[in-house]
Amino acid sequence: EAAVELRDVRKTYFLGEPVHALDGVDISIPRGSYTSVMGPSGSGKSTLLNLIGCLDTPTEGEVWVNGRETSELSQRDRTTARGEEIGFVFQTFNLMPKLTAAENVALPLVFQGVSKSERIDLAEELLDEVGLGDRGDHRPNELSGGQRQRVAIARALAADPAIILADEPTGNLDSETGKQIMGLFQRLHDEGNTILMVTHERPIAEHSERVIHVLDGTVEKVEEIESPRRVE
Ligand code: ADP
Ligand code: ADP
Repeated sequence: EAAVELRDVRKTYFLGEPVHALDGVDISIPRGSYTSVMGPSGSGKSTLLNLIGCLDTPTEGEVWVNGRETSELSQRDRTTARGEEIGFVFQTFNLMPKLTAAENVALPLVFQGVSKSERIDLAEELLDEVGLGDRGDHRPNELSGGQRQRVAIARALAADPAIILADEPTGNLDSETGKQIMGLFQRLHDEGNTILMVTHERPIAEHSERVIHVLDGTVEKVEEIESPRRVE
């Protein structure tokens, strides 16, 4: 079964004039694949990711994640799914400014009933994995952009999700730092995770195996990348 499947998905926003952000989208994302989504601003990329990430619901059609149709989930199950099945990484990191890096990473585990000392241990381990083992006590404003994004990735991984969704994960980073993040995604993919990433940047997209090109709320074409770029 596919990790993610969209069947004739439509999303319409009603703001006076209806806006068809997605207009009949069919997509199947194989388990363990690395896919990017490209398209002009306003073409529906964020809407697509938000639907898969259970941050929003489709107006019509079905969104399947790990073999479950997401509209059938209760609000509570949707929130749980977001942590346990889906890890979300945002362009703007979305870290809690008053919490330390370790506390930010540990946050998704609060809802899973993991004890405080276990949470902090696991958070330190995850920070270590993203190369920030010595930054657990720092608050976001004491970290660089790339470090903040790595904290956000560690947080996305905290509940051990099989699917990682990333909306412009390198959008606010310089290219050297972006490369570091791509190296991290490469490792996660090599380890068997499913990665779906929105990006404006062609060189970033070329790290993935497939590019879904979105235009005006529809899939324009699906491009296979024959030899994805690798970070050494
Ligand atoms: P990007 O183009 O970098 O993906 P946008 O600035 O288009 O980001 O959108 C960021 C978020 O703002 C979207 O996920 C969406 O939820 C919200 N948004 C975008 N356009 C509108 C709008 N016209 N009205 C209200 N919210 C919007
Ligand atoms: P992209 O991520 O490709 O920039 P979005 O998915 O953010 O595109 O937006 C697709 C379309 O839907 C745009 O016309 C945008 O203005 C509109 N849109 C997105 N989110 C909202 C929202 N929350 N309310 C109203 N319109 C929205």
